[in-house]
Amino acid sequence: MSAPVSAVAFIGLGNMGLPMAGNLVKAGFAVQGYDVFDAARAALAAVGGAACDSLAEALEAADVVVTALPAAAHVREAYLGDAGIVASSRPGALFIDCSTIDVDTARAVAAHAGAEGRRMLDAPMSGGVGGAAAGTLTFMVGGAADAFEAAQPTLGAMGRTILHAGPSGAGCAAKLCNNMMLAIQMIAVSEGFNLAEKLGLSAEALYAISSTATARCWSLNDYCPAPGPVPSAPSNRNYAPGFAAELMLKDLRIAMQAAQGAGAVTPLGAQATQIYAMMAAAGHGGDDFSGVIRFLDGKT
Ligand code: NAD
Repeated sequence: MSAPVSAVAFIGLGNMGLPMAGNLVKAGFAVQGYDVFDAARAALAAVGGAACDSLAEALEAADVVVTALPAAAHVREAYLGDAGIVASSRPGALFIDCSTIDVDTARAVAAHAGAEGRRMLDAPMSGGVGGAAAGTLTFMVGGAADAFEAAQPTLGAMGRTILHAGPSGAGCAAKLCNNMMLAIQMIAVSEGFNLAEKLGLSAEALYAISSTATARCWSLNDYCPAPGPVPSAPSNRNYAPGFAAELMLKDLRIAMQAAQGAGAVTPLGAQATQIYAMMAAAGHGGDDFSGVIRFLDGKT
């Protein structure tokens, strides 16, 4: 006899959620999806999921609820509203929120879920739309160990690397710290390559040296913002994302709010936030975040 099919409710079928839900379908889960946009629901039906007309319908019979929503306000609304996920889901259901939101909201929503007999994990992701489509996302997970174990089959169908960061909120904390470091590194690497150009040093020569020397990091080695050295990088396709600068700006703003609230000193994080805000205001928020190299050089 084959194992019973697990029912997963997937809420938020946008750029990330739709391909993630598609991978759950491919892995054999019965996916019941809901999004406030009609077109997103239709897209789920096209990849084999059941498109539901209401949140309540999607939650019916679901043992696991996955959410991939734009921001904290949407997460609060979806989970804590009168007919929201906490109120309308099955008792004992496991919630996995993959949205990038602030730590306080993640903890508050999880505490509310816990008080109502539901387990909840914050599981923000990295890997972008490409990783979502390929099922190779990294999930940084906060919550109780037993909930983390219970989430393995679901997360494993959507991602390759699943890391337990600690208790509730730790996944969001890890995501914000990681992306603040990434933004700062990308700007640092961009400044280095811009200076090299002015000094008559080729991008290839600097790459050959720095990618094996002390400045090496992912932004340089794997995602070089200067065109040429890393063929797969967005710098070789006119900075088409990838990971858009406006999404990096969103994460930086949450990180800066967290730093302020926690009394952490993050002057470079603040500077990176300003630079990405200026890049977005100049009309380049849709460019890949590595396009900051052009913005810094006044080339855009
Ligand atoms: P998106 O805006 O494309 O999709 C979000 C979807 O949620 C939309 O279709 C929207 O209609 C739906 N939605 C909003 N409120 C809803 C509600 N109450 N009920 C049901 N549906 C609702 O966003 P995305 O790019 O898919 O990102 C989702 C999350 O993942 C965000 O928090 C983002 O920061 C994070 N993230 C995105 C990327 C990326 O590359 N796009 C990478 C890592 C993390």
